[in-house]
Amino acid sequence: VKRVYAFGKDAQGNNVTEGNTHMKAQLGGKGANLAEMANIGLPVPPGFTITCQTCMEYANADNTWPEGALDTIQAYREDLEARMGKKIGDAADPLLVSVRSGAPMSMPGMMDTVLNLGLNDESIKGLIAQTENPRFAWDSYRRFIQMFSNVVMGLDGDLFENAITAMKNARGAASDTDLSAEDLQELVSEFKQIFSENVDAAAYPSLVVDGRVQFPQDPSVQLQLAIEAVFGSWNNPRAVLYRKQNKIADDLGTAVNVQSMVFGNKGNTSATGVAFTRNPANGEKEFYGDYLVNAQGEDVVAGIRNTSPIADLKNVEGLEEAGRELEEVFVTLENHFRDMCDIEFTIEQGKLWMLQTRVGKRTAAAALHIAIEMEKEGLITKEEAVMRVDPEQLDQLLHPQFDKNAHYDVIAKGLNASPGAAVGEAVFSAADAVAVTEAGRKCVLVRWETNPDDLAGMIAAEGILTSHGGKTSHAAVIARGMGAPCVCGVEALKIDAEKKQAEVAGTDIVIREGDMISIDGTTGSVVLGAVNLVLPELTGDLDTILEWADEFRTMGVRANADNPEDAELSRGFGAEGIGLCRTEHMFLGDRKQIIQSFILTDDPAVREKALDDLLEAQTGDFYGMFKAMDGLPVIVRLLDPPLHEFLESPRTLDVEIARMEATGAPAADIAAKRKLMEQVDAMAEANPMLGLRGCRLAILYPELPAMQVRAIARAMARLKKEGLNPEPEIMIPLVSVLPELETLRGECEAVIAEVCEAEGVELNIPIGTMIELPRAAVTADEIATQADFFSFGTNDLTQTTFGFSRDDVEAKFIPRYLERRILPCNPFETVDSGVATLVQMGCEKGRSTNPDIQLGVCGEHGGDPDSVKTFHKIGLTYVSCSPYRVPLARLAAGQAAL
Ligand code: ADP
Ligand code: MG
Ligand code: MG
Repeated sequence: VKRVYAFGKDAQGNNVTEGNTHMKAQLGGKGANLAEMANIGLPVPPGFTITCQTCMEYANADNTWPEGALDTIQAYREDLEARMGKKIGDAADPLLVSVRSGAPMSMPGMMDTVLNLGLNDESIKGLIAQTENPRFAWDSYRRFIQMFSNVVMGLDGDLFENAITAMKNARGAASDTDLSAEDLQELVSEFKQIFSENVDAAAYPSLVVDGRVQFPQDPSVQLQLAIEAVFGSWNNPRAVLYRKQNKIADDLGTAVNVQSMVFGNKGNTSATGVAFTRNPANGEKEFYGDYLVNAQGEDVVAGIRNTSPIADLKNVEGLEEAGRELEEVFVTLENHFRDMCDIEFTIEQGKLWMLQTRVGKRTAAAALHIAIEMEKEGLITKEEAVMRVDPEQLDQLLHPQFDKNAHYDVIAKGLNASPGAAVGEAVFSAADAVAVTEAGRKCVLVRWETNPDDLAGMIAAEGILTSHGGKTSHAAVIARGMGAPCVCGVEALKIDAEKKQAEVAGTDIVIREGDMISIDGTTGSVVLGAVNLVLPELTGDLDTILEWADEFRTMGVRANADNPEDAELSRGFGAEGIGLCRTEHMFLGDRKQIIQSFILTDDPAVREKALDDLLEAQTGDFYGMFKAMDGLPVIVRLLDPPLHEFLESPRTLDVEIARMEATGAPAADIAAKRKLMEQVDAMAEANPMLGLRGCRLAILYPELPAMQVRAIARAMARLKKEGLNPEPEIMIPLVSVLPELETLRGECEAVIAEVCEAEGVELNIPIGTMIELPRAAVTADEIATQADFFSFGTNDLTQTTFGFSRDDVEAKFIPRYLERRILPCNPFETVDSGVATLVQMGCEKGRSTNPDIQLGVCGEHGGDPDSVKTFHKIGLTYVSCSPYRVPLARLAAGQAAL
């Protein structure tokens, strides 16, 4: 096996790169694209990449090296030294390298990097001699010790930051750059001291010299420890959490890139920065990013000093040339990768070096805009444009925003780093964000700047607010990735995390823990108090992409809605009908009384009256629904839930009786309540979801479906007479055997015929059934003989296939199953392969006896992109999902067809 791949040029200037962008599984994203950039002639500091497979072998063998791997690495190191004409650790002219992790999937900030490796008490002299810049050399050395100690040895970074702060205070220095070479040299001694005092001698016996731990001077030891640390970081808790959150497999491993250093901290003609080839927030075609003069590595992302916008580079003396070249690189990269890229670069004494590129993360709005623009520019095809937008991401565009009519005062402004608005209690630590969320309340995480340790809190919070860092800071990047609203760099916020409060500079406003605050990541506004949120209108770009998706899509998209407002909303989102109109919600509120009197009475007259009242009300309900969806199918499901869902709970009644007794209520009233409780008790079921519900209810209480069908037929007749074109269909739930459907179908048809007769109009109402029980799926050929359509109720089908009670398992043990990877995903979110097999069987059997049968899905899965793809493969006619998922389902269905 090949474990190591070279990239960059040799001493003669020939490209000796062995990898390319397609080798991400071996070289990781960073390594594969460093190779690709070198291949297309961009300036990449030479180096080599150790494969992800080596990482996994090392990790799986309990952190021991595979046979021969260290020798190969040594050979590539010597080759790199030959290419660079310098040796690592050389006392006269040392080669310095960075050791960088890079997994196949981008995992921002999850893994750690060591810079300036190879410095020791000898090679520092060479660096000083070569650069004639002692300040730079000592700064590089102290950075190396600091990073090595933190990343490789796991020492607390604060130990070193505190020493720097103490030094700055002692010297009256405002910024790091005000420290002199001598100051930095002294810091190096202090850092080595800190290293000796804090590293555990027992854990690192090889570092013990003269009885105490010493900072390793041998570059080979430095290099091996650093590589091992990067490998080890694959399993650090932050990385594991990020992978879980983003559904990234645990067995990919990370590559290690060993790369010769270039220096952005060599003075005022040196700089380091990060950039995007287009604006990742809104997709505009502009150069977007930040840089810092005389800085190294992660200074930009860490938000330590305030950065300058990339567009200024061209106007800075000594950096103009590199600035121009960078703009050419942007174009080269976009033309090559045919996508928006993000970039890390360093300018060393006026010369530009590329350190990283990848296809850049972007908001949903930017994804749409970039895809459409690139199609117009001829860079990509329409099909590619449709594939470029992640359906899940569309959710962001449908994110809430501040209500324009709401009155509120903006107390501070920051950068609009990730769109959408959030309202919640202010919390000042990740742990508090998690606690508040677990208590069922909403919060906004307020931080000076976030770091990878804050990840759990960032996931828990509704939104993120920081006082430092730019649009490429950690908070901004992660929030955009998660689709969480984020406002960053609000300089007016003076946060005191200890006291859990923040003052707004120049005002007497203080935000305290628990205060409601609102942030708008689209505008950068911060508001004290809860602003009313509203949902946005669809943007033109979204419409365009959805129309393109519609051109490719072969599967229909309908909505689940049970009132005219939702029906209209989903029609606006492009729903082509209602796949599921539940009728049980129509029995709540005032109507609960009516249905209760139906259920509980023995008196036929009372029953009759209740049914008449319900008929009246339901006719109005259906009239509204069919009108809103005029010209499109509306599938009405007959009453489904167990009857006692409409009754008082026995426990409530018990309490009431006790109270009546205590307050001396009339004996007759108490007796009546007692009787009611007995009745309700008698109806209780041990497993109501497997009990008297669905078509079983319709068979035992035929008056109920008859009333509902009459209401449907009458509403339809009325609309037809008004000149409209209603298209209702009747769906019978929870069928398991053919005679159930046969019986009910006959009864429905009789009622429809009666209404036709009475109204003098022709009413053509298809009658179908839900397939939501395994028995129905496996006997679908029989059931199809009596059904005009099937709608797969994949929620109940998942419950009954697994024998999982959704309400019980989703909170209690599915999360554990997911953690332990016993299930690949929550089967109530993404349709399970076993359940999908039942759906497929149902389709095939159904078609075998009824070739014209219409086949749809109306479970929650209809709005899940992965499930939509499965349903497309099975060949369903349509999916039906909640109104806000309709755009997403259209896009996913379009993608499934490509
Ligand atoms: P991350 O995956 O967290 O982005 P990187 O490996 O990209 O980590 O390293 C972080 C930063 O360190 C880079 O953006 C770059 O500024 C700096 N860096 C890494 N390697 C080198 C190098 N060979 N020369 C100069 N700077 C480097
Ligand atoms: Mg990077
Ligand atoms: Mg059901």
